[in-house]
Amino acid sequence: MKKATSWTYKISIIMCLMIASTKSYALSDQDLTQIQMLKETALSSNLAYEIDESLTTEVGARRVGTVNDKRAVDWATAKMKQLGFDKVWTEEVTHIKWIRGTVEAKIISPYPQNMVAIALGGSVGTPKDGIKADVVEFENFAALEAAAPNSLKGKIAFISFRMERKIDGSGYEPAVKSRGDGPSMAASKGAIALLIRSVGTDDNRVAHTGGLSYQDGIAKIPAAALSNPDADMLQRQVARGAAVKVFLKLTAERKDETPVITANVIGEITGSESPDDYVVIGAHLDSWDVGTGAVDDGIGVAVTLAAAHHIANLKERPKRSLRVILFAAEEVGLVGAKQYVMDNKDHMDRHIIGAEWDFGTGLIYEMEPGVGPSALNTIRELAELLAPLGVSLNPKNTAKGDSDMSALGNAGMPAVNFSPDGLQYFDYHHTENDTLDKVDPEALKQNTAVFTIFSYFATQSDVDFRK
Ligand SMILES: [Zn+2]
Repeated sequence: MKKATSWTYKISIIMCLMIASTKSYALSDQDLTQIQMLKETALSSNLAYEIDESLTTEVGARRVGTVNDKRAVDWATAKMKQLGFDKVWTEEVTHIKWIRGTVEAKIISPYPQNMVAIALGGSVGTPKDGIKADVVEFENFAALEAAAPNSLKGKIAFISFRMERKIDGSGYEPAVKSRGDGPSMAASKGAIALLIRSVGTDDNRVAHTGGLSYQDGIAKIPAAALSNPDADMLQRQVARGAAVKVFLKLTAERKDETPVITANVIGEITGSESPDDYVVIGAHLDSWDVGTGAVDDGIGVAVTLAAAHHIANLKERPKRSLRVILFAAEEVGLVGAKQYVMDNKDHMDRHIIGAEWDFGTGLIYEMEPGVGPSALNTIRELAELLAPLGVSLNPKNTAKGDSDMSALGNAGMPAVNFSPDGLQYFDYHHTENDTLDKVDPEALKQNTAVFTIFSYFATQSDVDFRK
């Protein structure tokens, strides 16, 4: 027994020495020099801004299924070729047809006033002559959920919950439930329409759109968002105690049986040693129809394309392939991302690691990985390279991929999430104000440097991020 213990001890010492002497870093000194050069290139290049300027000037708004959505696919395909990708292709995505129509919302009594409102994406319209009904206010989704069955018969439900402004955008999650699940919840209580306070942090008289999702088996009722100042005003009238009657007319049309066709656009810089191993970076190409999608997600499109271009411009291809995926139909429920996972399921295990950029407009201050325990050391090396750009490492290791990339993360792909300063993001999100003047060219340079370093680091290392 004693002898065995001593042998075990000796062997473990020898193993420690072996590990110490062969401790290898993910990248060679030459690679690290290359990364410094790539960083300088990204920080001094205006390319990302120029790409976003091109997309928002030459295409503009590109809601799924619209003519502009198709033009965006053509734009992206041509842009990738122009930027030096080795392969560029599209993969078909289908969704249902929806026509926004017009909106009219006003308080009829006790104090008649017009309100600024917008139809939620996917909403059905009201009857032709609109709806006139009393409003019942709920302070949040949970309060609506707690309402008794049939208690809203013939009424318009109104959720007045205000989204909180937070640097990491974490105010969105509790607020967006009203938009996504509110319509069916209100209908299940007998309501004939739903109004919500816009899911946004601004004080402009502009309403925020965004997708809803109707539940099967529950009546589909029309749903719209009010601008923050109008939601305040409606609340003040309700607070006076008398019944508040509202007129709502939406001419939106939802055509569940009519498919629209769009596409994920994919560009690849083919690896020199392991071409069938893919590092993926992505963003969504579609946008809502009211702004020009310069921020959501023109910034993501611009940053990922620019990062890939800087790598394509090197003399040699990296070892692994780099894929940029510009996803279709994100705004209506990650439809393109789910399709990508289905189309690529046979080689999802060759998707080494991925990152999405769908949260403009600020500087990236944090990276959170979602990798295997052994790969964490490699992530720390990456973090050291990103630290001079102001990016710190979140010690949690639970990232599943942001936005579209979460569909790939849920299919087993390791991921890294990058967090930018998101304090202003939800002022413009899904509104007419999502335009190019909100994009900060200097922040784009830092964002692009981060994505370029991440992409080169992961394509040039041979680390298995699943382990
Ligand atoms: Zn987005």
